[in-house]
Amino acid sequence: MAIIGYTKPAFQLGSFTCPRCNCFSQHEWRYIARGAGGFEAPINWVTSWCLRCKDYCFWENRTLVWPVESGLPDPIEGCPEQIQAVYNEARQLFPHSPRASAALLRLAIQMICVDRGLPGKDLNSDIGTLVKNGLSAQIQQSLDLVRVVGNNAVHPGQIQIEENKDKIEKFFGLVNLIVDVLIVQPAKVSEMFHPLVPPAQKQQITARDGKP
Ligand SMILES: [Zn+2]
Repeated sequence: MAIIGYTKPAFQLGSFTCPRCNCFSQHEWRYIARGAGGFEAPINWVTSWCLRCKDYCFWENRTLVWPVESGLPDPIEGCPEQIQAVYNEARQLFPHSPRASAALLRLAIQMICVDRGLPGKDLNSDIGTLVKNGLSAQIQQSLDLVRVVGNNAVHPGQIQIEENKDKIEKFFGLVNLIVDVLIVQPAKVSEMFHPLVPPAQKQQITARDGKP
């Protein structure tokens, strides 16, 4: 996925977005010294050294092996900060523990429900309330998918999380979709509605529907 302002690290590239400091920076390529202190480093071990943060990345066979790049989508623009933090934590954990990642994504959708004014104590019942208020079947299924699999990650049951890693990976896109439909798009419409619709028409709308 192309990210604006992001240059993917590639073997022997002079400048790229540093996986250590997340800035576009120049890198020096260094072969690990062979024979130093009796240590025989394999010839295919190479480091790139960031001139900005002065930290190393480690490459083996022309492939970046440390730090691990998740390759998962960024949180959607407009996603509230607290939800973003949990989403990013799930992203960082995913290569090491899809189970922990699935549990955190479940927490993220719980936080989305709280953002929507729901109690956030019983996620099943919160989703039910959203459905009563006209939630689309696509978003309901996305929410239930993340909820059910996330529950399973915490209380092991019928779903084998590790064996379904490729499917869990797609949950990041689902959480972004849920945030877009439930938070980002309504905020954009509301921003246009309130300054443009005169108070008298707002009152008429409230009288018609019981809500503005
Ligand atoms: Zn750096």
